[in-house]
Amino acid sequence: MAITALAHIRGLPDFPQVIEINVRSGPNTNYALSFKAPVGLSNLPILDVKQDDQKANFQGKVYPWFNLKFPTGMSGWVRGDLLNIWGDLTVWGYGTLSQPTYAFSLTPGVVAEPVQFPTTPPVSVGSSPSVAPVGVAAPVQPPAPAPAQPVAPPAPAPVVPPAPAPVQPAAPNPLAPPPPAAPNPIAGPAPVQPSAPAPAPVAPPAPEAGPVVPMGYVLMRDGANVRAAPVVSAAAVARLDRNTPVTIMEAKPDQSGLAVKWARVRTQTGVEGWMREDVLRFNAAAAQFDLIVPDRYPASMIERWWVRGYEGPAPGQHWGWDWGAKVGEPVLCGPNGGTVLKSVACTKCTAQKPSFKDYGIPLGDLGNLNDPAWNFGYGHYVIVRYLNSQLPASTQQALARIGLNGAHLFAMHGHLNSRSVTDKQELAPNQAIGTCGDTGNSQAAHLHLEIRASLNANDINWAGMKKNLLNPTILYQR
Ligand SMILES: [Zn+2]
Repeated sequence: MAITALAHIRGLPDFPQVIEINVRSGPNTNYALSFKAPVGLSNLPILDVKQDDQKANFQGKVYPWFNLKFPTGMSGWVRGDLLNIWGDLTVWGYGTLSQPTYAFSLTPGVVAEPVQFPTTPPVSVGSSPSVAPVGVAAPVQPPAPAPAQPVAPPAPAPVVPPAPAPVQPAAPNPLAPPPPAAPNPIAGPAPVQPSAPAPAPVAPPAPEAGPVVPMGYVLMRDGANVRAAPVVSAAAVARLDRNTPVTIMEAKPDQSGLAVKWARVRTQTGVEGWMREDVLRFNAAAAQFDLIVPDRYPASMIERWWVRGYEGPAPGQHWGWDWGAKVGEPVLCGPNGGTVLKSVACTKCTAQKPSFKDYGIPLGDLGNLNDPAWNFGYGHYVIVRYLNSQLPASTQQALARIGLNGAHLFAMHGHLNSRSVTDKQELAPNQAIGTCGDTGNSQAAHLHLEIRASLNANDINWAGMKKNLLNPTILYQR
Protein backbone atom coordinates (compact mmCIF):
# COMPACT_ATOMS: atom_id res chain seq x y z
CA MET A 1 0.00 0.00 0.00
CA ALA A 2 1.43 3.31 -1.01
CA ILE A 3 2.08 5.81 1.74
CA THR A 4 0.51 9.08 0.85
CA ALA A 5 2.00 12.48 1.48
CA LEU A 6 -0.18 14.67 3.67
CA ALA A 7 -0.21 18.23 4.92
CA HIS A 8 -1.58 20.06 7.96
CA ILE A 9 -2.29 23.79 7.83
CA ARG A 10 -0.31 25.08 10.79
CA GLY A 11 -0.83 28.73 9.93
CA LEU A 12 1.49 31.11 11.75
CA PRO A 13 1.73 29.77 15.31
CA ASP A 14 3.20 33.04 16.53
CA PHE A 15 0.14 34.85 15.24
CA PRO A 16 -2.89 32.90 16.41
CA GLN A 17 -5.17 35.63 15.13
CA VAL A 18 -4.48 34.25 11.66
CA ILE A 19 -7.22 31.64 11.33
CA GLU A 20 -7.28 31.24 7.60
CA ILE A 21 -4.70 31.11 4.86
CA ASN A 22 -4.67 31.79 1.16
CA VAL A 23 -4.91 29.00 -1.36
CA ARG A 24 -3.69 30.11 -4.76
CA SER A 25 -3.81 28.89 -8.33
CA GLY A 26 -0.02 28.61 -8.62
CA PRO A 27 3.26 28.60 -6.67
CA ASN A 28 3.72 32.34 -6.03
CA THR A 29 1.69 35.12 -4.41
CA ASN A 30 1.16 36.61 -7.89
CA TYR A 31 -1.30 33.85 -8.64
CA ALA A 32 -4.98 34.39 -8.08
CA LEU A 33 -6.47 33.63 -4.69
CA SER A 34 -8.56 30.53 -5.29
CA PHE A 35 -10.14 30.35 -1.83
CA LYS A 36 -9.22 30.56 1.82
CA ALA A 37 -8.77 27.57 4.10
CA PRO A 38 -8.97 27.42 7.88
CA VAL A 39 -5.88 26.92 9.97
CA GLY A 40 -6.05 23.46 11.54
CA LEU A 41 -7.24 21.56 8.47
CA SER A 42 -5.30 18.34 8.35
CA ASN A 43 -4.70 15.18 6.35
CA LEU A 44 -4.72 17.06 3.07
CA PRO A 45 -3.18 14.96 0.30
CA ILE A 46 -0.16 16.57 -1.36
CA LEU A 47 -0.51 16.49 -5.14
CA ASP A 48 2.64 18.33 -6.11
CA VAL A 49 5.50 20.40 -4.73
CA LYS A 50 7.28 23.27 -6.49
CA GLN A 51 9.72 25.96 -5.57
CA ASP A 52 8.32 29.50 -5.75
CA ASP A 53 8.40 30.22 -9.45
CA GLN A 54 9.43 33.87 -8.88
CA LYS A 55 12.16 32.69 -6.51
CA ALA A 56 10.43 34.51 -3.64
CA ASN A 57 12.42 33.71 -0.55
CA PHE A 58 13.04 34.43 3.07
CA GLN A 59 16.65 34.98 4.08
CA GLY A 60 17.79 33.42 0.86
CA LYS A 61 15.68 30.31 1.18
CA VAL A 62 13.19 30.00 -1.65
CA TYR A 63 9.69 29.17 -0.48
CA PRO A 64 8.38 25.77 -1.41
CA TRP A 65 4.71 25.61 -2.42
CA PHE A 66 2.44 22.62 -2.03
CA ASN A 67 -0.51 21.75 -4.24
CA LEU A 68 -3.08 20.28 -1.87
CA LYS A 69 -6.38 18.54 -2.25
CA PHE A 70 -9.12 19.87 0.05
CA PRO A 71 -12.17 18.10 1.46
CA THR A 72 -14.35 20.04 -0.96
CA GLY A 73 -12.60 18.30 -3.84
CA MET A 74 -10.92 21.54 -4.85
CA SER A 75 -7.16 21.85 -4.97
CA GLY A 76 -4.73 24.74 -4.78
CA TRP A 77 -1.27 25.94 -3.78
CA VAL A 78 -0.24 26.84 -0.22
CA ARG A 79 3.12 28.29 0.75
CA GLY A 80 5.35 25.94 2.74
CA ASP A 81 5.78 28.23 5.75
CA LEU A 82 2.12 27.60 6.57
CA LEU A 83 2.33 23.81 6.53
CA ASN A 84 3.50 20.75 8.33
CA ILE A 85 3.98 17.79 6.03
CA TRP A 86 4.58 14.08 6.41
CA GLY A 87 4.44 10.78 4.53
CA ASP A 88 6.26 9.65 1.45
CA LEU A 89 7.69 12.73 -0.25
CA THR A 90 10.50 10.90 -2.02
CA VAL A 91 9.46 12.04 -5.49
CA TRP A 92 9.94 15.65 -4.42
CA GLY A 93 13.29 15.03 -2.74
CA TYR A 94 12.12 15.16 0.85
CA GLY A 95 12.36 11.45 1.57
CA THR A 96 9.87 9.88 3.95
CA LEU A 97 8.76 11.83 7.00
CA SER A 98 7.23 9.79 9.77
CA GLN A 99 6.24 12.87 11.81
CA PRO A 100 4.50 16.09 10.80
CA THR A 101 7.40 18.40 9.99
CA TYR A 102 7.49 22.13 9.34
CA ALA A 103 7.72 22.26 5.57
CA PHE A 104 9.83 25.42 5.36
CA SER A 105 12.52 23.87 7.55
CA LEU A 106 13.17 21.17 4.97
CA THR A 107 15.41 21.31 1.95
CA PRO A 108 14.56 19.07 -0.96
CA GLY A 109 17.37 16.75 -1.88
CA VAL A 110 18.44 16.58 1.74
CA VAL A 111 16.65 13.84 3.52
CA ALA A 112 15.26 15.38 6.65
CA GLU A 113 16.87 14.38 9.87
CA PRO A 114 14.73 14.16 12.94
CA VAL A 115 15.51 16.58 15.72
CA GLN A 116 19.15 16.12 16.67
CA PHE A 117 19.62 14.94 20.21
CA PRO A 118 22.77 15.60 22.20
CA THR A 119 25.03 12.73 23.04
CA THR A 120 25.39 14.25 26.47
CA PRO A 121 22.59 15.66 28.55
CA PRO A 122 21.98 19.39 28.44
CA VAL A 123 23.97 21.21 31.06
CA SER A 124 21.49 23.59 32.59
CA VAL A 125 18.65 21.28 33.31
CA GLY A 126 16.88 23.71 35.54
CA SER A 127 16.82 26.65 33.20
CA SER A 128 14.72 27.18 30.16
CA PRO A 129 16.11 25.26 27.27
CA SER A 130 17.56 27.34 24.55
CA VAL A 131 16.12 26.99 21.16
CA ALA A 132 18.45 26.35 18.33
CA PRO A 133 18.31 29.25 15.91
CA VAL A 134 17.46 28.03 12.50
CA GLY A 135 16.71 31.27 10.77
CA VAL A 136 13.05 31.81 10.25
CA ALA A 137 12.33 28.16 10.45
CA ALA A 138 11.22 27.78 14.01
CA PRO A 139 11.59 24.39 15.60
CA VAL A 140 8.94 22.12 14.32
CA GLN A 141 5.71 22.31 16.22
CA PRO A 142 3.85 19.25 15.02
CA PRO A 143 0.50 18.36 16.52
CA ALA A 144 2.18 15.66 18.54
CA PRO A 145 4.42 16.82 21.36
CA ALA A 146 8.07 16.70 20.51
CA PRO A 147 9.86 13.96 22.39
CA ALA A 148 12.54 16.31 23.59
CA GLN A 149 13.46 19.95 23.52
CA PRO A 150 15.94 20.97 20.92
CA VAL A 151 19.23 21.80 22.51
CA ALA A 152 21.43 24.80 22.18
CA PRO A 153 23.96 24.57 19.40
CA PRO A 154 27.48 23.70 20.40
CA ALA A 155 28.93 26.93 19.05
CA PRO A 156 27.87 30.42 20.06
CA ALA A 157 24.82 31.27 18.13
CA PRO A 158 25.05 33.88 15.44
CA VAL A 159 22.78 36.80 15.96
CA VAL A 160 19.42 35.95 14.61
CA PRO A 161 17.24 38.70 13.24
CA PRO A 162 14.21 39.24 15.38
CA ALA A 163 11.17 37.26 14.50
CA PRO A 164 9.01 39.03 11.98
CA ALA A 165 6.72 41.48 13.68
CA PRO A 166 3.05 40.66 13.58
CA VAL A 167 2.52 43.49 11.20
CA GLN A 168 0.36 42.56 8.30
CA PRO A 169 1.34 43.89 4.93
CA ALA A 170 0.24 47.19 3.65
CA ALA A 171 -2.67 45.25 2.19
CA PRO A 172 -4.22 48.56 1.36
CA ASN A 173 -7.50 47.48 0.01
CA PRO A 174 -8.63 43.97 0.76
CA LEU A 175 -11.28 44.33 -1.90
CA ALA A 176 -8.75 44.85 -4.63
CA PRO A 177 -7.18 41.92 -6.40
CA PRO A 178 -3.96 40.76 -4.83
CA PRO A 179 -1.14 43.10 -5.74
CA PRO A 180 1.76 41.76 -7.70
CA ALA A 181 4.59 40.55 -5.60
CA ALA A 182 7.28 43.05 -4.82
CA PRO A 183 10.21 42.60 -7.11
CA ASN A 184 12.66 40.25 -5.57
CA PRO A 185 15.83 42.13 -4.69
CA ILE A 186 17.81 38.93 -4.68
CA ALA A 187 17.87 37.08 -7.95
CA GLY A 188 18.50 33.57 -6.84
CA PRO A 189 20.33 32.54 -3.73
CA ALA A 190 22.97 35.13 -2.93
CA PRO A 191 26.08 33.63 -1.41
CA VAL A 192 27.38 35.61 1.52
CA GLN A 193 30.28 37.85 0.49
CA PRO A 194 32.19 39.04 3.52
CA SER A 195 33.67 41.93 1.55
CA ALA A 196 30.37 42.99 0.14
CA PRO A 197 28.56 45.94 1.57
CA ALA A 198 26.33 45.24 4.49
CA PRO A 199 23.23 43.58 3.21
CA ALA A 200 19.95 45.36 3.55
CA PRO A 201 17.91 44.26 6.51
CA VAL A 202 16.07 41.12 5.69
CA ALA A 203 12.39 41.71 5.21
CA PRO A 204 10.06 39.49 7.12
CA PRO A 205 8.32 36.91 5.02
CA ALA A 206 5.55 38.38 3.00
CA PRO A 207 2.49 37.39 4.93
CA GLU A 208 0.36 34.96 3.04
CA ALA A 209 -2.53 34.84 5.42
CA GLY A 210 -5.21 37.31 4.54
CA PRO A 211 -5.97 40.97 5.11
CA VAL A 212 -5.97 42.66 8.49
CA VAL A 213 -9.16 44.65 7.93
CA PRO A 214 -12.11 42.91 9.60
CA MET A 215 -14.00 41.37 6.73
CA GLY A 216 -16.94 39.12 6.10
CA TYR A 217 -17.91 37.23 2.98
CA VAL A 218 -21.45 36.22 2.10
CA LEU A 219 -21.82 32.49 2.63
CA MET A 220 -25.24 31.92 1.12
CA ARG A 221 -25.48 30.52 -2.35
CA ASP A 222 -28.40 32.80 -3.17
CA GLY A 223 -27.05 35.85 -1.41
CA ALA A 224 -28.13 37.56 1.80
CA ASN A 225 -29.89 40.72 2.91
CA VAL A 226 -28.37 43.82 4.44
CA ARG A 227 -30.94 45.29 6.85
CA ALA A 228 -31.58 48.70 8.33
CA ALA A 229 -31.34 47.43 11.92
CA PRO A 230 -30.03 44.31 13.69
CA VAL A 231 -33.28 42.35 13.51
CA VAL A 232 -34.95 40.22 10.83
CA SER A 233 -38.04 42.43 10.79
CA ALA A 234 -36.03 45.48 9.71
CA ALA A 235 -36.26 46.55 6.09
CA ALA A 236 -33.74 45.14 3.65
CA VAL A 237 -31.60 47.92 2.22
CA ALA A 238 -29.66 45.72 -0.19
CA ARG A 239 -29.11 42.14 -1.18
CA LEU A 240 -25.55 40.92 -1.66
CA ASP A 241 -24.44 38.04 -3.83
CA ARG A 242 -22.58 35.06 -2.51
CA ASN A 243 -18.93 35.79 -1.64
CA THR A 244 -19.44 39.56 -1.68
CA PRO A 245 -16.84 41.03 0.70
CA VAL A 246 -18.02 43.45 3.39
CA THR A 247 -16.04 45.41 5.94
CA ILE A 248 -17.18 44.77 9.51
CA MET A 249 -17.73 47.97 11.49
CA GLU A 250 -19.23 46.69 14.76
CA ALA A 251 -21.45 43.95 16.16
CA LYS A 252 -24.61 44.03 18.28
CA PRO A 253 -27.03 41.50 19.75
CA ASP A 254 -30.24 40.72 17.90
CA GLN A 255 -32.91 43.29 18.81
CA SER A 256 -35.64 40.66 19.09
CA GLY A 257 -33.72 38.60 21.62
CA LEU A 258 -32.57 35.81 19.30
CA ALA A 259 -29.29 34.28 20.40
CA VAL A 260 -27.38 35.67 17.45
CA LYS A 261 -25.42 38.79 16.76
CA TRP A 262 -25.53 41.13 13.82
CA ALA A 263 -22.60 42.82 12.16
CA ARG A 264 -22.80 46.36 10.85
CA VAL A 265 -21.22 46.15 7.43
CA ARG A 266 -20.14 48.35 4.58
CA THR A 267 -19.76 47.17 1.02
CA GLN A 268 -17.25 48.27 -1.55
CA THR A 269 -19.99 50.31 -3.20
CA GLY A 270 -20.79 52.13 0.02
CA VAL A 271 -23.93 50.28 1.11
CA GLU A 272 -24.17 50.17 4.90
CA GLY A 273 -26.42 48.12 7.13
CA TRP A 274 -26.70 45.04 9.30
CA MET A 275 -26.12 41.38 8.44
CA ARG A 276 -26.75 38.40 10.68
CA GLU A 277 -23.54 36.68 11.71
CA ASP A 278 -24.54 33.27 10.41
CA VAL A 279 -24.81 34.42 6.80
CA LEU A 280 -21.18 35.53 6.73
CA ARG A 281 -17.82 33.91 6.97
CA PHE A 282 -15.25 36.09 8.71
CA ASN A 283 -11.55 36.65 8.42
CA ALA A 284 -9.17 36.57 11.37
CA ALA A 285 -9.31 40.29 11.99
CA ALA A 286 -13.07 40.10 12.63
CA ALA A 287 -12.41 38.04 15.75
CA GLN A 288 -12.30 41.31 17.73
CA PHE A 289 -16.10 41.51 17.39
CA ASP A 290 -16.62 38.09 18.96
CA LEU A 291 -18.84 36.94 16.14
CA ILE A 292 -19.49 33.29 15.59
CA VAL A 293 -17.17 31.59 13.19
CA PRO A 294 -19.57 29.29 11.41
CA ASP A 295 -17.02 27.51 9.30
CA ARG A 296 -14.60 26.78 12.11
CA TYR A 297 -16.13 24.55 14.76
CA PRO A 298 -17.06 22.00 13.88
CA ALA A 299 -15.82 22.70 10.43
CA SER A 300 -19.00 21.05 9.12
CA MET A 301 -19.73 22.10 5.61
CA ILE A 302 -17.58 24.58 3.82
CA GLU A 303 -20.37 25.36 1.36
CA ARG A 304 -23.87 26.31 2.42
CA TRP A 305 -26.80 28.01 0.79
CA TRP A 306 -29.21 28.98 3.54
CA VAL A 307 -29.63 28.67 7.27
CA ARG A 308 -32.52 28.10 9.62
CA GLY A 309 -31.91 28.83 13.25
CA TYR A 310 -32.58 27.14 16.56
CA GLU A 311 -35.95 27.87 18.15
CA GLY A 312 -36.09 25.94 21.42
CA PRO A 313 -36.74 22.58 23.07
CA ALA A 314 -40.54 22.50 22.91
CA PRO A 315 -42.34 20.08 20.58
CA GLY A 316 -42.86 21.73 17.22
CA GLN A 317 -39.91 24.06 17.68
CA HIS A 318 -36.74 23.61 15.68
CA TRP A 319 -34.15 21.92 17.88
CA GLY A 320 -31.07 22.62 15.81
CA TRP A 321 -29.49 24.63 13.06
CA ASP A 322 -30.15 23.80 9.44
CA TRP A 323 -27.59 24.54 6.82
CA GLY A 324 -28.71 24.08 3.24
CA ALA A 325 -26.13 22.70 0.85
CA LYS A 326 -25.90 20.38 -2.07
CA VAL A 327 -26.26 16.63 -1.70
CA GLY A 328 -22.78 15.15 -1.29
CA GLU A 329 -21.15 18.18 0.35
CA PRO A 330 -18.66 16.77 2.90
CA VAL A 331 -19.67 17.15 6.55
CA LEU A 332 -16.63 17.47 8.81
CA CYS A 333 -16.04 17.08 12.53
CA GLY A 334 -14.32 19.72 14.66
CA PRO A 335 -10.68 20.80 14.58
CA ASN A 336 -9.72 18.84 17.70
CA GLY A 337 -11.26 15.57 16.63
CA GLY A 338 -14.08 13.77 18.43
CA THR A 339 -15.61 10.36 18.96
CA VAL A 340 -18.53 8.85 17.09
CA LEU A 341 -21.31 7.99 19.53
CA LYS A 342 -23.63 6.57 16.91
CA SER A 343 -23.63 6.26 13.15
CA VAL A 344 -27.04 4.98 12.10
CA ALA A 345 -28.58 4.15 8.74
CA CYS A 346 -32.23 4.96 8.10
CA THR A 347 -33.88 1.81 6.80
CA LYS A 348 -36.70 3.64 5.04
CA CYS A 349 -34.38 6.14 3.36
CA THR A 350 -33.65 4.60 -0.01
CA ALA A 351 -31.67 6.23 -2.77
CA GLN A 352 -34.84 6.63 -4.81
CA LYS A 353 -37.04 7.71 -1.91
CA PRO A 354 -34.85 9.30 0.76
CA SER A 355 -37.38 11.51 2.54
CA PHE A 356 -40.92 11.90 3.85
CA LYS A 357 -41.90 13.91 0.78
CA ASP A 358 -41.01 11.03 -1.51
CA TYR A 359 -43.73 9.00 0.22
CA GLY A 360 -46.25 11.85 0.28
CA ILE A 361 -45.80 12.20 4.05
CA PRO A 362 -46.22 15.77 5.31
CA LEU A 363 -43.18 17.40 6.86
CA GLY A 364 -43.23 16.93 10.63
CA ASP A 365 -45.83 14.14 10.54
CA LEU A 366 -45.87 12.88 14.12
CA GLY A 367 -46.62 9.25 13.30
CA ASN A 368 -43.55 9.03 11.10
CA LEU A 369 -41.41 11.14 13.42
CA ASN A 370 -42.00 8.42 16.00
CA ASP A 371 -41.03 5.65 13.57
CA PRO A 372 -37.59 4.12 14.28
CA ALA A 373 -37.45 3.01 10.64
CA TRP A 374 -37.17 6.72 9.76
CA ASN A 375 -34.66 7.20 12.58
CA PHE A 376 -37.32 9.44 14.15
CA GLY A 377 -37.11 11.79 11.20
CA TYR A 378 -33.34 12.31 11.32
CA GLY A 379 -32.73 10.06 8.31
CA HIS A 380 -29.17 8.76 8.12
CA TYR A 381 -27.36 10.35 11.03
CA VAL A 382 -24.07 10.54 12.93
CA ILE A 383 -23.71 11.76 16.51
CA VAL A 384 -20.24 12.97 17.47
CA ARG A 385 -19.11 13.48 21.05
CA TYR A 386 -16.79 16.39 21.75
CA LEU A 387 -15.16 16.09 25.14
CA ASN A 388 -15.11 19.32 27.10
CA SER A 389 -11.34 19.41 26.55
CA GLN A 390 -11.90 19.35 22.78
CA LEU A 391 -14.10 22.44 22.83
CA PRO A 392 -13.04 26.05 22.29
CA ALA A 393 -12.36 27.90 25.54
CA SER A 394 -15.27 30.25 24.92
CA THR A 395 -17.61 27.27 24.59
CA GLN A 396 -16.30 25.79 27.83
CA GLN A 397 -16.97 29.13 29.53
CA ALA A 398 -20.44 29.40 28.04
CA LEU A 399 -21.25 25.92 29.38
CA ALA A 400 -20.04 26.91 32.82
CA ARG A 401 -22.24 30.01 32.76
CA ILE A 402 -25.36 27.89 32.25
CA GLY A 403 -24.53 25.43 35.02
CA LEU A 404 -22.90 22.82 32.81
CA ASN A 405 -19.29 23.36 33.82
CA GLY A 406 -17.13 20.62 32.32
CA ALA A 407 -19.96 19.21 30.22
CA HIS A 408 -19.31 17.37 26.99
CA LEU A 409 -21.23 18.14 23.81
CA PHE A 410 -22.95 15.65 21.55
CA ALA A 411 -23.57 16.85 18.01
CA MET A 412 -26.27 15.23 15.88
CA HIS A 413 -25.72 15.49 12.14
CA GLY A 414 -29.06 14.60 10.57
CA HIS A 415 -30.49 14.01 7.09
CA LEU A 416 -27.13 12.77 5.75
CA ASN A 417 -26.84 11.28 2.31
CA SER A 418 -24.01 8.99 3.35
CA ARG A 419 -22.04 8.10 6.48
CA SER A 420 -18.30 7.41 6.42
CA VAL A 421 -17.72 6.56 10.10
CA THR A 422 -18.78 3.86 12.52
CA ASP A 423 -19.82 3.66 16.17
CA LYS A 424 -17.06 4.50 18.70
CA GLN A 425 -14.66 5.64 15.98
CA GLU A 426 -12.06 8.20 17.05
CA LEU A 427 -12.01 11.08 14.57
CA ALA A 428 -9.02 12.98 13.28
CA PRO A 429 -9.25 16.77 13.20
CA ASN A 430 -11.75 17.91 10.57
CA GLN A 431 -12.35 14.35 9.45
CA ALA A 432 -15.27 13.88 7.07
CA ILE A 433 -18.04 11.93 8.81
CA GLY A 434 -20.45 11.80 5.89
CA THR A 435 -22.12 13.93 3.29
CA CYS A 436 -25.02 16.32 3.25
CA GLY A 437 -28.31 14.80 2.15
CA ASP A 438 -32.07 15.02 2.08
CA THR A 439 -33.08 11.96 4.12
CA GLY A 440 -35.91 11.58 6.64
CA ASN A 441 -38.06 14.53 7.71
CA SER A 442 -36.54 16.85 5.12
CA GLN A 443 -37.78 18.79 2.15
CA ALA A 444 -34.44 19.96 0.72
CA ALA A 445 -30.84 18.90 1.06
CA HIS A 446 -29.44 20.24 4.32
CA LEU A 447 -27.51 19.41 7.44
CA HIS A 448 -29.45 19.44 10.71
CA LEU A 449 -26.96 20.15 13.49
CA GLU A 450 -28.36 19.58 16.97
CA ILE A 451 -26.37 19.93 20.18
CA ARG A 452 -27.06 18.26 23.50
CA ALA A 453 -24.84 18.26 26.58
CA SER A 454 -24.02 15.70 29.23
CA LEU A 455 -21.77 15.82 32.25
CA ASN A 456 -21.01 12.15 31.67
CA ALA A 457 -18.45 11.65 28.90
CA ASN A 458 -19.58 8.04 28.50
CA ASP A 459 -23.26 8.89 28.22
CA ILE A 460 -24.92 6.89 25.46
CA ASN A 461 -28.46 8.07 26.15
CA TRP A 462 -29.10 10.65 23.44
CA ALA A 463 -32.80 10.84 24.33
CA GLY A 464 -31.97 11.46 27.98
CA MET A 465 -29.73 14.38 27.03
CA LYS A 466 -32.77 16.24 25.68
CA LYS A 467 -32.96 18.09 29.01
CA ASN A 468 -29.69 19.76 28.00
CA LEU A 469 -30.65 20.66 24.45
CA LEU A 470 -28.63 23.75 23.49
CA ASN A 471 -28.58 26.38 20.80
CA PRO A 472 -25.79 25.21 18.47
CA THR A 473 -24.33 28.71 18.51
CA ILE A 474 -22.64 27.59 21.74
CA LEU A 475 -20.13 25.73 19.58
CA TYR A 476 -19.21 28.81 17.58
CA GLN A 477 -18.52 31.38 20.25
CA ARG A 478 -15.15 33.07 20.36
ZN1 LIG B 1 -33.22 21.01 11.28
